[in-house]
Amino acid sequence: MLLFPENIKELFARRKLVIATMHGKEQALAPLITEALGVEIVMPDVLNTDVFGTFTGEIERTLSPLDAAVMKCKTAMEQTGCDLAVANEGSFGPHPVIGFVSSDEELVVLMDAKYHLQIAARELSTDTNFNGKRCSSYNEVKIFADEVLFPSHGLILRKEKDSHSPIIKGITEWNVLEKEVDSFLQAYGEVFVETDMRAMYNPSRLKVIEKAASKLIIKIFSACPDCHAPGYDVVDYVSGLPCSNCGTPTRSTLAHIYKCSNCNFEEKKLFPYGKETEDPMYCDVCNP
Ligand SMILES: [Zn+2]
Ligand SMILES: [Zn+2]
Repeated sequence: MLLFPENIKELFARRKLVIATMHGKEQALAPLITEALGVEIVMPDVLNTDVFGTFTGEIERTLSPLDAAVMKCKTAMEQTGCDLAVANEGSFGPHPVIGFVSSDEELVVLMDAKYHLQIAARELSTDTNFNGKRCSSYNEVKIFADEVLFPSHGLILRKEKDSHSPIIKGITEWNVLEKEVDSFLQAYGEVFVETDMRAMYNPSRLKVIEKAASKLIIKIFSACPDCHAPGYDVVDYVSGLPCSNCGTPTRSTLAHIYKCSNCNFEEKKLFPYGKETEDPMYCDVCNP
């Protein structure tokens, strides 16, 4: 078991931290992290994060977002000799609960090889332009482009959905868009146009990454009450919040379980959402 200083900031102050990215995400990550941790930011010279999979599918993403982010951290640490790294991984698709709207889930991970820490935070947002459409005229492309915030947000063109060649990425100018769409239409009679989700082409995504990074910082500064290790957080939930009418335990959360990964200190915090009973509407006895 490691010993940690009572002031978490002392752990990180003046150390070098590498941001494991090559897609301009440091814009969203560096200011927050520098300010909160007092670290010196290092950027890798070359970091081919595409080997862990690309959004556009040329290299299939086989790792989970967490494993991919951890691999990026490790690779960047090896390359730069830093023992501290932050990486980000984004996932886009239909919202897991709402379904019919697109969502962007950003994961941000801090790895500390010196203190054996791995702390992760996520932000799930519907503030995303993630979309794609098959078009057979430039006019159709124009309407789509307006909807997905072009040209402040970049576009990708390909022959058809999931086809990797030809593919043109990072389009950010109307005249380039028109010229490229024309050549696709002449060659294939149609074109698949989609949003470029790489962070430097997608300001909406940068904002979600920033929110995930803020959550990560809050989590880092959440210290174990016993050994002061950073990243003390909820590891489990207990359901059974009693019904306000009949007292029967409902499926709603009664308590959060916190556990320290360094010293195994465990705590059960009751009524995490500030209410001690549940509305009979959610009770299987009162409202079957
Ligand atoms: Zn502890
Ligand atoms: Zn009830």
